[in-house]
Amino acid sequence: MTGTVALVGAGPGDPELLTVRAARLLADAEVVVYDALVGDGVLALAASRAELIDVGKRPGQGVAQDLINVLLVRLAGEGKRVVRLKGGDPFVFGRGGEEAQALARAGVRCEIVPGITSAIAAPATAGVPVTFRGVAASFTVVTGHRQHGEAPVNWAALAQAGGTIVVLMGVAQRGEIAVALMAGGLAADTPVAAIHRATTGYQQVLRCPLAELAGTAVQSPATLVIGGVAALDVTALAEFTAATPA
Ligand code: SAH
Repeated sequence: MTGTVALVGAGPGDPELLTVRAARLLADAEVVVYDALVGDGVLALAASRAELIDVGKRPGQGVAQDLINVLLVRLAGEGKRVVRLKGGDPFVFGRGGEEAQALARAGVRCEIVPGITSAIAAPATAGVPVTFRGVAASFTVVTGHRQHGEAPVNWAALAQAGGTIVVLMGVAQRGEIAVALMAGGLAADTPVAAIHRATTGYQQVLRCPLAELAGTAVQSPATLVIGGVAALDVTALAEFTAATPA
């Protein structure tokens, strides 16, 4: 008998932002294999009898990708209903693609359940739309932390592209990223918004010009939004307040 693996996006943190399908699969799971950035509130939705396995990949620790692939194949081979739960969307820097390939090679049926990526949810919680008429007609989601052997990010090309740049896993390298973008032509006063742990009780939003990003205390994990939209807070009631007589 062969089990199934659902590769499920857990969204940015708030369990209310799960898809209905993700919640249903969690409630029905026999095993949940989850990552570091999956919120406790999301895990609480797993069936009470489900076995929870933490393979959290924090920098420098966590379980190696090969072992995760082997684990998923083994659990499916045992006939289990497995939910492989990943923060945000499973195919946005989650290595979900590799896991899906490994499962396919082993002949395991795998379902993909997309999730709300932090690349969009984190800016949204700060009132920052990643596109905005007249300000940004495109956005690029890019990693600030390259693994050994990966192609380098062409920061100069991104600087020239003129759209919003959303950087994931970029807190530690934010100084180098800012320098590379300015060398590529972005103005020193280009707005930046850094959103830490969006949609959780620990959310923090910092804003600064690009030239000051290195010296601004941003904590990981955070999503960096670089470009004109980062100056916006479309949810701010300031105009409203000003118009109200004291
Ligand atoms: N698959 C995930 C991204 C994995 S990479 C997704 O689609 O969201 C991990 C990076 O995502 C973190 O380093 C951080 O840059 C970002 N991130 C994840 N959760 C976040 C959150 N709640 N708030 C802000 N950024 C977050």
